[in-house]
Amino acid sequence: MENKTYEFGLVGLAVMGQNLARNVAHKGFSIAVYNRTPQKTDEFVAKFGHEGTIGGAHSPEELVNMLAKPRKIMFLVKAGQPVDDMIAAFLPYLDKGDILIDGGNSHFSDTRRRSKELEAKGFRFLGVGVSGGEEGALNGPSLMPGGNEASYKEVAPIFTAIAAQVADGPCCSYVGDDGAGHYVKMVHNGIEYGDMQLISEAYFMMKELLHMSDAEMGDVFAEWNKGLLDSYLIEITSKILKVTDKETGKPLLEMILDKAGQKGTGKWTSQEGLELGVPIPTIAEAVFARGMSAYKSERVEAAKQLKGPEGEYKGDKKAFIDAIHSALYASKICSYAQGFALIKAAAKEYNWNINFGDMALLWRGGCIIRAVFLEDIKKAFERNPQLNNLLLDPFFMEAIEQHQAKWREAIIEAKRFGIPTPAFSASLDYYDSYRRESLPANMIQAQRDFFGAHTYERIDQEGIFHTEWEHEL
Ligand code: NAP
Repeated sequence: MENKTYEFGLVGLAVMGQNLARNVAHKGFSIAVYNRTPQKTDEFVAKFGHEGTIGGAHSPEELVNMLAKPRKIMFLVKAGQPVDDMIAAFLPYLDKGDILIDGGNSHFSDTRRRSKELEAKGFRFLGVGVSGGEEGALNGPSLMPGGNEASYKEVAPIFTAIAAQVADGPCCSYVGDDGAGHYVKMVHNGIEYGDMQLISEAYFMMKELLHMSDAEMGDVFAEWNKGLLDSYLIEITSKILKVTDKETGKPLLEMILDKAGQKGTGKWTSQEGLELGVPIPTIAEAVFARGMSAYKSERVEAAKQLKGPEGEYKGDKKAFIDAIHSALYASKICSYAQGFALIKAAAKEYNWNINFGDMALLWRGGCIIRAVFLEDIKKAFERNPQLNNLLLDPFFMEAIEQHQAKWREAIIEAKRFGIPTPAFSASLDYYDSYRRESLPANMIQAQRDFFGAHTYERIDQEGIFHTEWEHEL
């Protein structure tokens, strides 16, 4: 057992834990680490110990004894039961007031439960969303801390130092109580699903309607990355399109099977939209689109039997690329509007006091959805912290106004030629639904009342009404 006292403890030395531990050490904080499989701890200390003040522990008890009080221990283990198991393994050795931090992709409801259970026992608990993958963990992630604010303040010097830094400051600030940090991380991932699907649809339109080469499309994305769409995902898309497969000499992208995987955070976000009754169709369609992609063998069969429109797009290529650009930008605005609306509803439901402008800044660097565009979102919430929907902010209103004719044109052409654009279409339908004073839900209410006596309200009188529809015929 060592005599030295370390400032921070980290549990779980897979890729995220290793990189985050190194990041902490690089910023000058002393750190003690522990992993269930002790060999990994020894290998980590042997390989990276020279990068800072790093100590290895072989048991929870040893790690606890190596830390300064109140202890600050971050868990980066597999989400789910392993988090509960690991916390349980540490509890017998901890003192009241020690701070436990879960940095994994935990479901926010687990974080709320753990907060309650641990606080009842006198411990402090933070649920922190960590975004940016392994590269972010090492060089500066986006951190979304939730839990008790006073407890967060005690770890804030470490967190703000290791987070990604942008011109406005670190991409780390307190989000809200108990599960708020993990909730915001979950919605971040949902938005990421939306962004990726929208970009894929833009690529697909250029490929299928304009028959552009991958290199040519790579140039278009590189150009887009200099303007409104300047973002990490557009940047990597332009790079992906330039890579050649060494074996065939063809673009590598075209050799990749069109079956998308998923780990479940997009699904969680969509489920939350359904749970809270908040429409988030772009995000949900992005999840469904991955589901549809997984039906590869069924699609191969269906392609032989199901007919669609024939013909070639004959319009102006440059103008159509411009239309796709507008469709991508306007759809992205709708997707973020949905994500922020969901968080707003969750803040009300779960009693979180979230600063939406600060939240946009959290995603400005370090994470997968980092984009210049987030500055505009931050400004929108600075103009009106109570903003109900991003679409109602004057800047975004003007942006949609400017791009909507081309947005519609891109989707119309895709439909004319039978090109699937689920996320573009869902975004436009979101916009067209949200902006309409009246929707056909009166018919749904009439039907519900007809077959199930579910009653309805009237537009001209207060009260609840029921009609015996058959008798009125
Ligand atoms: P991971 O594969 O999710 O988890 C592996 C780690 O969990 C190992 O340290 C492993 O210990 C430990 N573990 C697994 N089951 C355990 C159990 N029953 N009891 C105790 N420890 C257990 O690792 P990761 O990819 O580094 O991710 C860590 C967390 O960060 C996850 O919640 C993940 O979702 C989240 N995250 C990951 C990324 C990413 O890009 N990878 C990005 C953001 C967030 P052993 O070595 O003993 O097996």
